[in-house]
Amino acid sequence: MKYKISHRAASLSPSLTLAIDSKAKQMKADGLDVVGFGAGEPDFDTPQHIKDAAAKALADGFTKYTPAAGIPELRQAIADKHKRENGLSYKPSQIIVSCGGKHSCYNVIIATCEEGDEVIIPAPYWLSYPEMVKLASAQPVIVQTTDKTEFKLTPQSLRQAITPRTRLLILNSPSNPTGSVYTPGEIKALGDICVERDVLIMSDEIYEHLLYDGAVHQSVASFSPAHLEHTIVVHGFAKAWSMTGWRLGWCAAPEPIAKAIDAVQSHSTSNPTSFAQKGAVAALTGPQDHLKGWLTEFDKRRRFAWNRLNAIPRISCVNPKGAFYLFPNISGTGLRSTEFCARLLEAEKVAAVPGVAFGADDYMRISYATNMANLEKGLERIERFCASLPQ
Ligand SMILES: *Cc1c(COP(=O)(O)O)cnc(C)c1O
Repeated sequence: MKYKISHRAASLSPSLTLAIDSKAKQMKADGLDVVGFGAGEPDFDTPQHIKDAAAKALADGFTKYTPAAGIPELRQAIADKHKRENGLSYKPSQIIVSCGGKHSCYNVIIATCEEGDEVIIPAPYWLSYPEMVKLASAQPVIVQTTDKTEFKLTPQSLRQAITPRTRLLILNSPSNPTGSVYTPGEIKALGDICVERDVLIMSDEIYEHLLYDGAVHQSVASFSPAHLEHTIVVHGFAKAWSMTGWRLGWCAAPEPIAKAIDAVQSHSTSNPTSFAQKGAVAALTGPQDHLKGWLTEFDKRRRFAWNRLNAIPRISCVNPKGAFYLFPNISGTGLRSTEFCARLLEAEKVAAVPGVAFGADDYMRISYATNMANLEKGLERIERFCASLPQ
């Protein structure tokens, strides 16, 4: 049998992150002492009161279909969160809960983009964005940024990238993979241009709560009613509540877009898991004190790893103010990122993700969602590996 694979599916690039990850896991299974810096999830457990709420829902028999867009209680809790923390006024009908923030991104792109549309994506980018745009038969327009601007898109380069076909700009602050955080002034300047040129913004704010060194997050939707009208906020429970496996995220969108996403979802996944949604209500309405301890721990690791990386000859790293990643520049070593990471894994058993996966071949991504002992060991090995390379 000769199988036909659709253009849509065949045009996707397989995930480099997963390739490295499965190699590292295999090495670990073979008994090797591998240090994993590849994690894209917090190393903390979901807070107990959230687990309890979901367990109770399960015990109470809350096990049936819910409305496709999520239970009213959760959509209300999300609208309240945006009012309280972001100064954004949404009706619950503008909130669509989906099976993870990733699924929310996908729904937004599918519901707003099609063939002939261009989507501006600043690089380094979260590796799923361009693939999702391709799945919608639209055209990713990658705008390169570097560590010289802390990986931030400038108003000038945004203006240059916009054409009459531009449908959407994707922003992600704090950023995966770089950890960069736009200041309110910087994000407003980009939003102003999108309002002026009538371009929609998908603002992925899933790392909103993970900030350091006094950095602040302000949603691009918050600057004026026009900004709100041009923005779809994507968010989720994976990072600040460590609920990656629960598969729960949401988007907050102008009413017509929310309606379209609801329709798309009602014919694909239907609702996200019923009892998981009850846990999510507890996440938003219950105590948030877990976060303080997590941030203290993340910040300690961040400072240590950033200082340690910059002490390695031929490596330099921008100080990241958010998320849980470092994105060091490795171009001084003379190796491309794939070769660097493959040889690092082979020689020193350290797994990091090559920057090329995020559209930035001069860098690699290191996740510090791992304990201090691992960080110390892994960074020492990276230093030894760099010293072993020809000058
Ligand atoms: C983790 C992450 C998400 C969402 O992840 P889910 O597990 O699908 O909720 C979305 N955007 C970015 C940039 C992320 O790193």
